[in-house]
Amino acid sequence: MHILIIEDEAAIRDMIRLSLEQAGYRVSGCADAETARREIVEWKPDCLIVDWMLPGDSGIDLVHWLRRQPGLQQIPVLMLTARSEETDTITGLEAGADDYMTKPLSLRELRSRIKALLRRPAQWQDQPQLLRDGPIQLNIETHELAIDGQPVKLSKKEFQLLKFFLGHRNRVFSRDRILDAVWGSDRYLEDRTVDVHVLRLRKLLKPWGLDRCIQTVRGSGYRFHCDEAQHGQ
Ligand code: CA
Repeated sequence: MHILIIEDEAAIRDMIRLSLEQAGYRVSGCADAETARREIVEWKPDCLIVDWMLPGDSGIDLVHWLRRQPGLQQIPVLMLTARSEETDTITGLEAGADDYMTKPLSLRELRSRIKALLRRPAQWQDQPQLLRDGPIQLNIETHELAIDGQPVKLSKKEFQLLKFFLGHRNRVFSRDRILDAVWGSDRYLEDRTVDVHVLRLRKLLKPWGLDRCIQTVRGSGYRFHCDEAQHGQ
């Protein structure tokens, strides 16, 4: 299995390369999208790790290009984003990345995600666009939610709120910030609106014990964090 890393920070690129080589993969790397396009066409790697911010064309531009290339469009892509790029993860998925990780990276997690991507049948075009965390699977095209493979009904606002949380895992957001992101900034709503909807979402997740994933952070707001041990992932 050949993995191509497109990352302009040499230190990160080398760190990932070493880690994946130790796991038995063949790994090559480059620092910009232009070089990457040439290498992808020439080598047809089995998987790409693409940094969002690159000099010249961005990682997103590269993925857009990839998804238009017959014979190459099915190559799975793991996108890397920096913590400061708040709303970008969902955009990344919409652009055609199969998964994403936020820097700083856990190499162990990176290896297990790469393994999962390579195991997945390569049929990106037919795959619905999913946000996942543990047993939660949210389809951002059809707005369908499945937990442990079971369909779960949810309202439009519950969908938007869950989409926000899944796209911004493990980070604390104030009620005001969540209002802006989910309800938009031209609204006349109180912070309590967020509490009400969080309550509804928790109720929805409770049968699976996942209500605890939406954590109240005293004095700050909310954080979405699925404890992996909690449901044996
Ligand atoms: Ca970068």
